[in-house]
Amino acid sequence: MTIKTIYSSNFSKKTRKFKDIKIIVIHYTGMQSKIVSIKRLVNPRFKVSCHYLIDRKGLIFRMVEDNKVAWHAGKSKWKNFVNLNKCSIGIELINKGHKFGYEKFTSIQLKRLMQLCLKLKKKYKIKNSNIVGHSDVAPQRKKDPGEKFPWKKLKNNNLGIWYKVQNSKKIEFKNKDFQKQFFRNLYKIGYRYFEINRRSKKDVFPIKAFQRRFYPQNVSGKIDKKTFKISHFLASRLNLS
Ligand SMILES: [Zn+2]
Repeated sequence: MTIKTIYSSNFSKKTRKFKDIKIIVIHYTGMQSKIVSIKRLVNPRFKVSCHYLIDRKGLIFRMVEDNKVAWHAGKSKWKNFVNLNKCSIGIELINKGHKFGYEKFTSIQLKRLMQLCLKLKKKYKIKNSNIVGHSDVAPQRKKDPGEKFPWKKLKNNNLGIWYKVQNSKKIEFKNKDFQKQFFRNLYKIGYRYFEINRRSKKDVFPIKAFQRRFYPQNVSGKIDKKTFKISHFLASRLNLS
């Protein structure tokens, strides 16, 4: 795997230890072009960066060394981790994103991403349940990598988590229990930014983030049966990942 270098000076001065790296966060750049994306990721004015950038031809660029904290996740939570920059590797995929014309990721781009993730997972002993999208860890602010990102394909390559719904038992709940159980499941999986016992208008964000990742055909923000079942499957089998 060839990795080229375009260094960004946007990182924290303090060096971190290998064992501090627990999470991989996958992003899309969401900019008009590759050039614009790179310019932004190296410009000190914007204070953003990532460890790796993968373009649509599958070229991988290292922008910040793994042992430095890059600035890609922002305000974020996953499981008991808060503000994930310090404990994660950030990977950006070139894609115009929802704002400028969301594209399918190219197969070579995904292939290189998976190769890179497998390498990082092994090197830093990262759990599959800690390979996440930006929207998973910042659901109120972010949509990337979005509903076109093929998490199932990653799982087939032993990266991240996925589900099988066909074997799940019939689940019947009264509406309120249904909701509470759903959020309990989300919490177990690692999602934050909601309360288990109190519903709020902002609940639509974690629901959509969950759907964007696991039920991309239906990013409705409503907890239907299938959405619930998926959450149930994942929450009950998390020890396996
Ligand atoms: Zn992002």
